Amino acid sequence: MDGFVHQGQITKVVFGSGTRLRIGQEVAALGCGRAVVLSTPGQAAQAAAVQGTLGGMAAGAFAEAAMHTPLHVTRRALRFVAAQQSDCLVSVGGGSAIGLGKAVSLRTGLPHIALPTTYAGSEMSPILGETDGERKTTRRLPEVRLRTVVYDVDLTVTLPPAMAAASGLNALAHAVEALYSQDGDPLAFLMAGEALTALTTHLPGVVERPDDIEARSGALYGAWLAGACLGTVGMALHHKICHVLGGMFALPHAETHAVVLPHVVAFNAPSAPRAMARIGTALSAADPATGLYEFTGRLGVPPLAARTRHARVGHRGGGRPSAGERLLEPPPGGPARRHRDPHPRLARGRTD
Ligand code: NAD
Repeated sequence: MDGFVHQGQITKVVFGSGTRLRIGQEVAALGCGRAVVLSTPGQAAQAAAVQGTLGGMAAGAFAEAAMHTPLHVTRRALRFVAAQQSDCLVSVGGGSAIGLGKAVSLRTGLPHIALPTTYAGSEMSPILGETDGERKTTRRLPEVRLRTVVYDVDLTVTLPPAMAAASGLNALAHAVEALYSQDGDPLAFLMAGEALTALTTHLPGVVERPDDIEARSGALYGAWLAGACLGTVGMALHHKICHVLGGMFALPHAETHAVVLPHVVAFNAPSAPRAMARIGTALSAADPATGLYEFTGRLGVPPLAARTRHARVGHRGGGRPSAGERLLEPPPGGPARRHRDPHPRLARGRTD
């Protein structure tokens, strides 16, 4: 077996149904008693309900969180938290609310508890992406790790199916890339494999039967594990491509993930046979790229595929090309080439 380094997580995780009702207990367990609740404007009602549960431990709600954690919002939140003399932060929502919690926690040192309501996984990562005007910076900072994460499946049932599919694909991509990450380790591999199995088993149920609590619960379990992967090992080529394309052309997040992931998997396949075998097992697919392509279609994403040219590029030769290969757009100047070098395709780097 190859040597490895594994960094354990410090975050306490509580998972189940109705777990939000023990938020006061978790605040008290941190030695705190004045929590400011953070959310987006769209989840102000959920934040108010959490305030109600906190009772006398609630020090107010700040419902202005926004995508990509704009600094001007963080500054307003900092003033609010100081005015309320808060001693801890409770974020309710997806990556936007949790990102704001991390940004405030970083600048105040206040402990941060999250009640996640999407599958994006930010709650398990030490990654903070912030925007200042047009400029986005993404950092990995151990000090923004959350103290406690309370997963309550009941909070996710309001996530509309299309958003659940989008968010689920975000989680799926974290698990896929953890399987061949440069700094991967055996525990991350196990978590990623289990995340893939849970997400591929349960996301279709979430989309087809939004009230199916078993499906919602299985998907949230997969999202936790995928988030833990994101928080443990670096992401790779897929995330770099999505980051660059998304940023340059303001592409929709889910569709970008859905379109790109099968191609990246097809590209990386020769260099990462163990990862490919695990993806194939989760999807019961002989070809992981084709399996992923078909899976994203089953979730109702990606409409972009219909517009993609059927180009026979990078094909391994002989027989029919895989779906991933058929859909791969040739870059300007000629068809994509399949590298035979065992290393370069697993692009290094970290991103959210
Ligand atoms: P989000 O938090 O922006 O939520 C999207 C919308 O859905 C919001 O309007 C929100 O109010 C609503 N919503 C969320 N949960 C809901 C629910 N259960 N019911 C009804 N509405 C709900 O979306 P996201 O995809 O979770 O997060 C995206 C942001 O998180 C981006 O800024 C991204 O960069 C960041 N992110 C960070 C990390 C990290 O590790 N730092 C990881 C993933 C994403």
